[in-house]
Order: sequence, then structure tokens, then C-alpha cells
Amino acid sequence: MKKYVRGLLVALVVMSMCLTAKTTVNAEEDVKAASGRTVPYYDYTKSGGVWNGINYYLPNGIKVTDAFFFDGSYTYYLQSDGSPMKDRLTYHPDGNHIIYFDSNGHEVFNRFQYCPSVGYTCYFDSNGYLYKDKITFVGNEVYYLNANGKMEDAGWFQFANGVDYGCANWDGTLNTGGFSYDPWGRVVFYHWNGMVARGLITDGTYNYNMDATDGHYLGQFQHVHNLTAATCTEGSMCLDCGLNVSEALGHNWNNNFYCERCGEYEYKVYFDDGYPFEVNYVSYSGRIYSTVEITNIEYQLSRNYDGTMNVKLYFDGIKTYDYKGSNNSASSYFNCKLYKGDTVVASTMIGTPLLMEGEYFEDESAYFWSLPPGDYTIKLLDR
Ligand SMILES: [Zn+2]
Ligand SMILES: [Zn+2]
Repeated sequence: MKKYVRGLLVALVVMSMCLTAKTTVNAEEDVKAASGRTVPYYDYTKSGGVWNGINYYLPNGIKVTDAFFFDGSYTYYLQSDGSPMKDRLTYHPDGNHIIYFDSNGHEVFNRFQYCPSVGYTCYFDSNGYLYKDKITFVGNEVYYLNANGKMEDAGWFQFANGVDYGCANWDGTLNTGGFSYDPWGRVVFYHWNGMVARGLITDGTYNYNMDATDGHYLGQFQHVHNLTAATCTEGSMCLDCGLNVSEALGHNWNNNFYCERCGEYEYKVYFDDGYPFEVNYVSYSGRIYSTVEITNIEYQLSRNYDGTMNVKLYFDGIKTYDYKGSNNSASSYFNCKLYKGDTVVASTMIGTPLLMEGEYFEDESAYFWSLPPGDYTIKLLDR
């Protein structure tokens, strides 16, 4: 409750700003969209020639018209008569973006600019493009450029989304200070981004019910935390107010290198390819005796007294080919290599039971002993 009262007191200072009548600005950009075209761009520091501040002449004496021109410090747009465009909010030749040339003909980048031709302040980004319907953060201040590109600077306004409201001071800064008033003297809450809160909000002690339409205060009631259970990686927190109640529990690794609580592995084994793996048993002459398809691989890690670990692999699969015919029962073989980074740290051969084509096997195993803990990669190869 104390916090709430303090909010009200602070709010009184800015209140006068927001009690101003809503101002309607209907200024239009004095331009029409061009039909998306590309015009040349000349850089004086590269092209050379003559720039007298009014016209730019290429080294061959031709006067440049209908082009962007960079004199080493500023960018201009040289019009059809070759003179720089001045004090104009205009469409970029691309037909999409709006740019501005000040009274010196300099294109404006990265700053607010009052544009006399439209009678309001705009913001142009690093490309010189006009911000429209953008909340902009400059230092610790928040500004809003509306759908026309006008910086809101006259009290209560509606964002271009047609739903949210804000309150702008004369210098364009938005009210972001939490509880304050709207122009009609009602309590509202201004978010950090300048939007007026609507619906339920909370400070962790009380829930405040703010009107769903314009955000004015309707009432409040005690906040009850809606806590999540702490897990290995995340602490307990309130889903509604964001309060962190406890730290993450941390994993509870066992001798098999997995967490007793969440089942996560402390170390991992990766497979360098996706299922299904197809591996052949090949004769010395290169003839394929038989083929199996590995359909599932599982592994277990276990810890030794000296801290090293053992990897046990279990393979399931199906025999898909036998060179002696589909009814021939014979073992097939494949190789398994274990990498740590680029280094082969172990390898082994795996044999299946006697199988005919189409018969499955399961849990054929391979063991690798006494490895330093870490992440390993398994590669299956023809035998
Ligand atoms: Zn809470
Ligand atoms: Zn865990």
C-alpha cells in the first residue's frame, strides 16, 4: 500500500502536463510516393569533380541531376535541375521510405528533426528513414513517433494499434513512471514503454484492476503468489509478478552421470549421423556379404572409483541383405568408433546373432571402459 501512495505523490508533478486537452494533428507529408525506382549515388570523395554547394559536376563536366550526392560530410538529393532538395519530407525514390532534407539540403540521420514543411518533429534512423508508429528509447527517455511520423508531444494520445494509450510531455518524453493520472484526473499506470496499463497488474503485494479500455484504476486486492516448483535449472518464481522465491536446485549427479532428479546427463554421447544407420559386412575383396540397418541406439554412462567413466552402447536393428540369399542365417558385423573431438579414443566390432533377411536383433552391446568424463561422438562403419 505504501508503494502505491508514493506513486500517487510522484505523479502529481507530471500531472499538469497530462491534463492538457488532446491535440489533433492532421498534417500530411507534402509528398507523393514515387513508383519505386533507383537513382544514382555519387560520393564526392571517390568520384571527384566539382561541387560548388549548389551543383555537382562530374570530372567530364556533366551536371548531375536526379541523384543522391555525398560531399564527404552530408548527403544531398540533387533534383532534376541539379539543385539540392531543401526542407522537404519526401519519399525515398524506392517508394517505400520517407526521408528528410533540412534547410541546408542535408539528409537527416539518426536524430529527431523538426520539419517545418509539416510542422512537427520526426525521427530518422541510421538509413535516414522516417520512424512511423515506433516507440523510441533515447538515453533514459522514451518517445513515440505516431503513424504519421509525428513525435507525440501534446498530452494524452492513442498508439497506432488503436488500443493502447500514452501521455506525452511537451518535450516528447512519455510518462513511464508507474502510477499517475490521465487528463481526466483518474489514476492510471504508465508502463516503462509509455503505454498505459490495461487489465490486471501487480506490484507483488497488491493486484490492481485497471480498466481494459483506457486503463483507469478500478480497484485493488491482495496479491497471492502463483509459484512454480523449483527445478534443477530454474528457481521457484511467481508466474504473475515475476518474483524469484528460490534458486535453482542444481543437478543431483549420480554414479551413472545422470541427474537423479531430472534425468539429464552430465556427459553426452552423440551420433554423427541420423537414423537409420545402414552398415555392411564386407569381404576382403570388397564384396558386401550382408547389410544391417540400425534402428535404435541407447547408451549408459557409469562412473568408476577413479572418476573415469564407462560407456555402454546398445544397438537394435534389422538385417536387410544377405549375399547368399534371403533365407541364409548368418551373423553380420559392423564397426563402432568412439571420438572425443577429432581423436579416436576407442573402437570395437559388433556382431549380430544369426539372422535371415528381415529378422530383427536388439540390445547388441559395445563397451568402452575408463574414459575421462566428457562428450563423445559415436561413428558406425562398415566392417
Ligand atoms: Zn507474485
Ligand atoms: Zn537435474
